[in-house]
Amino acid sequence: MGTTATAERVVLGKGRNSRRALFADTHHPCLGSECAVPYSADRGKQSVNRQALDELKQQIPLLDYLQAQDWQPVRPLSGGRWMGLCPLHADRKPSFLVDSGKSLFYCYGCGRGGDVIRFAEIYHEVKFPQALVLLRQWRGLPPLLQQATDFYRMQLHRHSEAVAYLHQRGVRSKELIEHMRIGYAPGGGGLRARLMQSGYPLSALRQAGLVTSFGYDAYVHRIVFPLEGNLYGRSLSAAAPPHRFLPNPKGGLYAWEQARRYPEVILVEGLFDYAVLWQSGFHHVTCAMGTHLNARQFQQLCDSPRTVYLSFDADANGSGQQASEQLAHRLQAHGILTRRIGLPQGHDPNSFFVQGGDAGQFQALLEAAQP
Ligand SMILES: [Zn+2]
Repeated sequence: MGTTATAERVVLGKGRNSRRALFADTHHPCLGSECAVPYSADRGKQSVNRQALDELKQQIPLLDYLQAQDWQPVRPLSGGRWMGLCPLHADRKPSFLVDSGKSLFYCYGCGRGGDVIRFAEIYHEVKFPQALVLLRQWRGLPPLLQQATDFYRMQLHRHSEAVAYLHQRGVRSKELIEHMRIGYAPGGGGLRARLMQSGYPLSALRQAGLVTSFGYDAYVHRIVFPLEGNLYGRSLSAAAPPHRFLPNPKGGLYAWEQARRYPEVILVEGLFDYAVLWQSGFHHVTCAMGTHLNARQFQQLCDSPRTVYLSFDADANGSGQQASEQLAHRLQAHGILTRRIGLPQGHDPNSFFVQGGDAGQFQALLEAAQP
């Protein structure tokens, strides 16, 4: 790679002698120190399976992850290494070295280095377990669920009843359908056939809950939303149970990686509530898929100081209000500020927008929200 050699000489010519070792050697001492534990031993305690960590790191090349965070390599070096501005400190000259082959980084400015997990810890300012969660979210669904999602997404526009249902629930923008990766399960054994064609044995499909014990597609006439490690299916038919999940945990808060960046977040009950809010420009929204938060979702809301706007259904029987009151108390006990959004009686955010409410009106509700 002649161009690489030129780039190296140019830099050396500027007299940055402290970097000579880096540019001259194939292996940089910092990057080569794979024997050193990249994160401290107490965080790698036995509860975290070493093999699972290695797998995660293999599935998330550091360079891909960096580029997804808008990092751009400025200069190629030999051996698949790159220099760029350090995303971890205010950097004016490229001092951030990435070895894409080894998936390791080192910064000559702030002196920090390690693997993709270490990077996620520092960059997102989270502890080790949260860094793993973020990386798993970013990696997305396991291959089988990913293929199922792809299949459902392809079906969506082939079935007018699915598109009509989305319209009826206020889901109109293409951008939103892309953002939420919304699909449709028509039923009729199409998913089973597709996945078996791709080489998955029927037993794997049953085990994942995609196919019933009788061998039928489990999701029939349902709008399908991929979650982290699960699929939520909303029935089009009033005769079937409205909500369906795979027999896995429902996972954390919906799209939390985006919402958590905001100092104020709106928490809603259902994905159609999330959808209309997101479509109306409220991108600091997340969804618990129900009013009962699991431990992980609760912890996510508490992971840094913020204000949580609760917008559960204003049910006639008061159950939504009660749930939001209880949650507000629990959050406050953890130092989180809460505001409860007063929707008109009988409404949830979805019906509010579907029946003519607009972003301005919802913004007014936000501003009028009571502690
Ligand atoms: Zn740095």
